[in-house]
Amino acid sequence: MANIIDGKAVSAQVKEGIRQEVEALKAKGVEIGLAVVIVGDDPASQVYVKNKEKACEAVGFNSYKYALPAETTEEELLALVDKLNNDDKVDGILVQLPLPKHLDDKIIINNIRPDKDVDAFHPVNVGKIMIGDYSFLPCTPAGVMELIKSTGTEVSGKECVVIGRSNIVGKPQAMLLLHQNGTVTITHSKTKNLKEVCARADILVAAVGRAKMVTADYIKEGAVVIDVGMNRDENGKLCGDVDFEDCKEKAGFITPVPGGVGPMTIAMLMKNTLTACKEHHNS
Ligand code: NDP
Repeated sequence: MANIIDGKAVSAQVKEGIRQEVEALKAKGVEIGLAVVIVGDDPASQVYVKNKEKACEAVGFNSYKYALPAETTEEELLALVDKLNNDDKVDGILVQLPLPKHLDDKIIINNIRPDKDVDAFHPVNVGKIMIGDYSFLPCTPAGVMELIKSTGTEVSGKECVVIGRSNIVGKPQAMLLLHQNGTVTITHSKTKNLKEVCARADILVAAVGRAKMVTADYIKEGAVVIDVGMNRDENGKLCGDVDFEDCKEKAGFITPVPGGVGPMTIAMLMKNTLTACKEHHNS
């Protein structure tokens, strides 16, 4: 039976470290603020935003929520972003994606000040990640790296396979593994012999969006298996990209869904906001 990686416990540790730093900053008179902007009433987005607000409260940040109606125009949203860019109380700005169809994510993200872009989606921050000179790491891939670290596994020299090449997970994930000297293969829907490629991996990260696609024959005995996927199974139950029951005997370490990568994403958002605040105050 594999060791199950407890994302809730690791994220609680990360948040506790942040909380202590926040206390120390507050003692010096520094307040930390995260602005979360949500447009429309997508139920999943509402839940994510609520969880982010709760996390802010737990670590001692001020959170500023801006809930805008679905028919908000690009001009109106950009005006809000501009206001937040210039608001000294706001260290981090997060615009919850996806936006309603008439709004272009790219235009909005490109207008967030890079030093307040705590999602690390702005092209300046993406470029910095590429050259390994960054302040912020994208939250989900950074959370995955923390989970790998929690297993005591050294990435350096390991065969790492990432399934998925999205801009928010797969590509930055591969880059972070590479920065830690992993030998990295990025796979996607056109990859031939996916099973065989994955079965070479000492560290396998699945970010596909296909319920239980990764079965025991995709994994190497003893591998670290990290499941980013958040899907619904045939009974509507939350599940990952990895068939947990099938893989749990063969993997060395494995994340559950829920309770694996999910909680880490928010913890890393808090970490980025703290980093932004420290940079804004040179502390
Ligand atoms: P995308 O849909 O943007 O990307 C999916 C990737 O998987 C693509 O690169 C695609 O390849 C690849 N893919 C699709 N089908 C196959 C296949 N059969 N074999 C190999 N590769 C395949 O998804 P995201 O990266 O945004 O998200 C991935 C999953 O992670 C989703 O379940 C999402 O809900 C979850 N997620 C979880 C988060 C968390 O906090 N836990 C945060 C973000 C995402 P191609 O490029 O060729 O189309």
